Amino acid sequence: MRPEPSNFRSSQTLAVTRVPAFDDNYLWLIHGQGEASNRVAVVDPGDPAAIDAVLASEGLTLAAILVTHHHGDHTGGVAALASRHKVPVYGPAQEDIPARTAAVRSGDTVALPSLGLSFAVIDVPGHTAGHIAYVGHGALFCGDTLFSGGCGRLFEGTPAQMLSSLDQLAALAPDTAVYCAHEYTASNLKFALAVEPANEQLVTYATEVSQLRAAGKSTIPTTIGLELAINPFLRSRLSSVSEAAARHAGRPPRDEADAFGALRQWKNEFRG
Ligand SMILES: [Zn+2]
Repeated sequence: MRPEPSNFRSSQTLAVTRVPAFDDNYLWLIHGQGEASNRVAVVDPGDPAAIDAVLASEGLTLAAILVTHHHGDHTGGVAALASRHKVPVYGPAQEDIPARTAAVRSGDTVALPSLGLSFAVIDVPGHTAGHIAYVGHGALFCGDTLFSGGCGRLFEGTPAQMLSSLDQLAALAPDTAVYCAHEYTASNLKFALAVEPANEQLVTYATEVSQLRAAGKSTIPTTIGLELAINPFLRSRLSSVSEAAARHAGRPPRDEADAFGALRQWKNEFRG
């Protein structure tokens, strides 16, 4: 693992297995506690074959499916896995999720007693209108809302919604481990460096990420504390970020959401 300043180290108590899929997706297996460590919940199983292969090779039993939003690379394996393994499917109340058995939203708790785990649900609209995230045991599973160095595209939500969603994630403990659904870090950091070239922690992190990726290693999980230091989308109110976005847009922002929207628009157009 990369050497990290202690305030960026995660305090999570979960065992999590990374299952790469497609070009750059991560499907996450969350292991049960103690005696239940061979039982797992899967987050966003876009590819059922990738999950079944790991269950078989590691001798794991699937106990639950957690879905963050309706996009196919997150839900493509849900129906097949749910019927094959006879497990509950938790998914966002405001979206169509195949084979969902429990519609959940902010304020709900996903209790998985057979794993000794429970997760709080929070609504994080922006990438999609009903996107949710799962938080518990020092870890965050946030789908396509927050990435390392970036955030999801606004396919269905407004800049104000995404800013509010990211504010909720930014308020989690700094040592919360962040399990996002894509390995986008290296390309995100090219944009982040264009926004904040003088951010020394960002420059250092970008070097670490280059080394990890050159060695074929993952940069995920990240932590909330690290993202607060390097991710322009969690830093859009800082003058170093908002002034750069205004320069790019050629006009001053009307308000914080407009400044965030200008930053997101710049990223959409960015070719690093
Ligand atoms: Zn998505």
